[in-house]
Amino acid sequence: MTAIVLFAAGPQMYEEYRTPLMQAMDKQGLDARLVTDAAPESVDYIIYAPSSDVQDFTPYTRCKAVLNLWAGVERIVSNPTLTQPLCRMVDPSLTQGMVEYVCGHVLRYHLGMDTHIHARPGDWNAVEPPLAQERKVGILGLGALGQAVAQALAGFGFDLHGWARSAKSVPGMHCHHGQDGLDACLSHAEILVTLLPLTAGTENLLNARTLALLPKGAALINPGRGGLVDDAALIAALVSGQIGHATLDVFRTEPLPADHPFWAHPRVTVTPHIAATTRARTAAQVIADNIALGEQGLPFLHMVDRGRGY
Ligand code: NAP
Repeated sequence: MTAIVLFAAGPQMYEEYRTPLMQAMDKQGLDARLVTDAAPESVDYIIYAPSSDVQDFTPYTRCKAVLNLWAGVERIVSNPTLTQPLCRMVDPSLTQGMVEYVCGHVLRYHLGMDTHIHARPGDWNAVEPPLAQERKVGILGLGALGQAVAQALAGFGFDLHGWARSAKSVPGMHCHHGQDGLDACLSHAEILVTLLPLTAGTENLLNARTLALLPKGAALINPGRGGLVDDAALIAALVSGQIGHATLDVFRTEPLPADHPFWAHPRVTVTPHIAATTRARTAAQVIADNIALGEQGLPFLHMVDRGRGY
């Protein structure tokens, strides 16, 4: 029987995804029909983005899975009408984008590039940067993205410390977990990267107490979620010099309001949530692979654990 796949991520994204999705479903040999409108009780799969018109999942009685186009699920995971399995996006192109973004900003801080970019005539600031082996970098979150970033930074030889909820073993990295592990990881991080999901357990994780554990003058790179950071505590830490510089890609309110103090602070770099985006061609393949698994009655890839919130 033909599977009905509802694209519920808006008309603009449909333009971008329609051809790649049809090609990927063909390649998988799926008997599936991609639609943008259907009687809810006829739908087998929902392709979803947070801006979707579908917010009540109750009438989708035969839907086997909701397939999120975003890696982060904080805007859907606690929807009380969602009883169907929820899968998040793990897209190889998104992962590559994140690796490039984080490595670029880590190297910027490691090499002290800003000093030279903003040098004025006569500023002959001949301080040699240390080698990567002499630079401690911390990564909070060792999932799909954190581990990919760790692998790339390990290639440069950085002295890596990472932290996750559960114990991990990542080549080239000292891995920490649990509350004590967090404090140990932070105390080692001259450059800190946050790649955690936003959940009740991670909200405001970077606050006055935890920011104070970083080495003085540390750099923060946050492409995770804005809510991981207590904004006022970060501003205070920047003013005191505890934090030397912050690169922030994600914010509690997006777009970041023009009067937010992050815009005006000389040692904050704001990027407009562009660290890593889902790319239609590779994401379509992930979606088609998951539908193929569902049609064979096999477990889905990248299932969200509703209890943990990610
Ligand atoms: P993931 O594979 O689910 O990994 C999440 C990691 O965070 C895991 O290592 C997990 O620990 C850890 N974690 C979660 N809650 C924790 C807690 N309370 N204490 C300690 N560790 C905790 O997620 P991902 O694909 O790497 O993505 C991470 C986040 O990046 C997304 O949720 C999203 O917010 C963000 N993101 C941003 C962009 C952008 O453009 N800025 C793009 C994509 C994603 P365990 O391994 O022990 O479970």
